[in-house]
Amino acid sequence: VSRFNDITMAPPDPILGVSEAFKADTHEMKLNLGVGAYRTEDLQPYVLNVVKKAEKLMLERGENKEYLPIEGLAAFNKATAELLFGANNAVILQQRVATAQGLSGTGSLRLAAALIERYFPGSKVLISSPTWGNHKNIFNDARVPWSEYRYYDPKTVGLDFDGMISDIKAAPDGSFVLLHGCAHNPTGIDPTPGQWEKIADVIQEKKHIPFFDVAYQGFASGSLDADASSVRLFAARGMELLIAQSYSKNLGLYAERIGAINVVCSSSDVAERVKSQLKRLARPMYSNPPVHGARIVANVVGNSDLFDEWKEEMQMMAGRIKNVRKKLYDSLSAKDSSGKDWSFVLKQIGMFSFTGLNKAQSENMTNKWHVYMTKDGRISLAGLSSAKCEYLADAIIDSYH
Ligand code: PMP
Repeated sequence: VSRFNDITMAPPDPILGVSEAFKADTHEMKLNLGVGAYRTEDLQPYVLNVVKKAEKLMLERGENKEYLPIEGLAAFNKATAELLFGANNAVILQQRVATAQGLSGTGSLRLAAALIERYFPGSKVLISSPTWGNHKNIFNDARVPWSEYRYYDPKTVGLDFDGMISDIKAAPDGSFVLLHGCAHNPTGIDPTPGQWEKIADVIQEKKHIPFFDVAYQGFASGSLDADASSVRLFAARGMELLIAQSYSKNLGLYAERIGAINVVCSSSDVAERVKSQLKRLARPMYSNPPVHGARIVANVVGNSDLFDEWKEEMQMMAGRIKNVRKKLYDSLSAKDSSGKDWSFVLKQIGMFSFTGLNKAQSENMTNKWHVYMTKDGRISLAGLSSAKCEYLADAIIDSYH
């Protein structure tokens, strides 16, 4: 009998499990709107031209495969903090940011969670309800307690702003507040600039520490600066904050696992100490991060031609998603005779749309219409082509009514 006999079968991951079910389906109209990965209009994966060009440069230089320092590639760390804050931001000029390369967004969040667990024992992280499914796993495994703040209002398929503010107010002083920098996952609903100011007011009043998850910078609106405006607004108030970054979506580097954790501190002296502890936490977890994705980012950002071309490709990707969003809205409005207001689809931003479909309705989408999606009613518009918008609208209307 196995020594591992007491280990039970783990449930499939609610997001990645959707792709497995999709693969097994042979229907010709099948659609995979589960995982958030960009697809072309032909629904094929896309490698950015700037990535191919950067890789060619890297190959020509014949770079070696020596270990990186624990904190990652210096040129990447500099580039990633400057992209986030803007190169002339006071936090950069005053050297108040501790930046460490991480294993994409997930690994960077995990490193931050380890920092919280070690130096803020008992402090809670407040997360939005709902949020990206992996947030809870990350904090659970890091043994960081968390609770939820209200975010989504099913009545309006919009933001429950009053609920959000009162839950942040009600939390113990000095909690961490996890915020999605832009393109909230799974809802696609972001606060307005005015609402961000009020959120910052309450967080300051309560001496909370903002903790941003920035997985879509430049990919949501097409502008790197616009998508970082929430983070910059907090930094401009002189607050200390944490920011996890990912290059999975905006550079299409999903499998390269490239991202960073940034901790904005009140002085360069504190930042130096925080960075030394991030290294100490990383060393026994994975020793040092992978080099390939870091070099791609550093090369793209460090070359003005490639940097400009990257911005164009980001606009192209963001634009394709906005197009199918509009076409889906048009198809829903034209086909649905019930008088339902579908304008929430247009108000959402980023690769996801929260349809408002419940679990049973989402199951109807898959079982009857071969549309694969998470059971919370989220669809990834990045996996939708304009050719299939009308089909998707038929499926949604049928599942709703
Ligand atoms: N945070 C959010 C909100 C996300 O949507 C994602 C990607 N789905 C991530 C973090 C991290 O992804 P990755 O680890 O691939 O960077």
